Amino acid sequence: MALMSGTDVAREISEQTAKRAHEFERRTGRKPCLAAVLVGEDPASVTYVKMKRNRSAKAGIESRLVQLPAETTTGELVAEITRLSQDAGVDGILLQHPVPGHIDERAAFEAIAPGKDVDGVTMHSFAAMAFSEPGSASATPGGIMRLLDAYQVDLKGKHAVVVGRSPILGKPVAMLLLARDATVTICHSKTENLDEIVRTADVVVAAVGRPKFITAVKPGAVVIDAGYNEGNVGDVDFDQLAETASLITPVPGGVGPMTIALLLEQTVSAAARRADLVDVGEVVG
Ligand code: NAP
Repeated sequence: MALMSGTDVAREISEQTAKRAHEFERRTGRKPCLAAVLVGEDPASVTYVKMKRNRSAKAGIESRLVQLPAETTTGELVAEITRLSQDAGVDGILLQHPVPGHIDERAAFEAIAPGKDVDGVTMHSFAAMAFSEPGSASATPGGIMRLLDAYQVDLKGKHAVVVGRSPILGKPVAMLLLARDATVTICHSKTENLDEIVRTADVVVAAVGRPKFITAVKPGAVVIDAGYNEGNVGDVDFDQLAETASLITPVPGGVGPMTIALLLEQTVSAAARRADLVDVGEVVG
């Protein structure tokens, strides 16, 4: 078994992103700008936003923080995001999710202007991704694909099993795997014989939100653990699979850093597209 280090691959992507951000600033006189919207004070969300802002600063990206109280209504949140969508100084918008349960999250996501959807959460971005058209990939699925590429995992004709079908993770990663000629099966909470299906996979993507949910794979399978549960535990039972998998992502240090790296990369790409700097918009590598 070998580890797939998201930390190492994310560092390489971030170095490229920092170079592109620097070039953007040299050409335009301003840094690319990412606005993060945080509703309420959920400790995990506060930590994620802090990490994303720190990493933005390191990459030469300006970050703005819009903090709203937990009681914010859907209408107020939509109005705030619409304001950021219209703000010429903002290149990318990140709505940290999940938002409090009384808010219509989809309505809030859809208030993000398509050109500023650097986290790839809008229906527009999903459709563009599904049709292999330019745009921002959903950040975690995009990060997973980059990790698979960095470790030269052959996807063509292989059976990929995605466990989970959320709009920000399971569904988009399934579309991206399909676009790369994998034969894709999506499992969810109503799937029968899930364990058996998982054991037929050449590539497994666990996106369930349940600690150590995947306990067995086919010998030689590639295992991507997108899960992140309390206590740094993934959706995969790492110790059980360490012997059978050929490649496996650790938690932490696997998918997590890739998500942030893609978010920042896509922020610089969005800034470059908005400024018509085609060469700065290109991602090399
Ligand atoms: P989610 O919206 O809760 O979706 C979970 C999915 O898993 C659903 O499709 C659900 O099926 C399925 N599921 C739940 N219990 C199941 C069971 N017993 N058997 C089979 N399928 C089951 O979660 P998410 O936002 O996609 O996140 C999934 C995991 O990824 C979480 O651990 C989360 O923390 C992590 N995550 C990590 C990152 C990162 O950057 N590393 C980013 C986002 C999320 P139904 O559709 O049938 O309900």
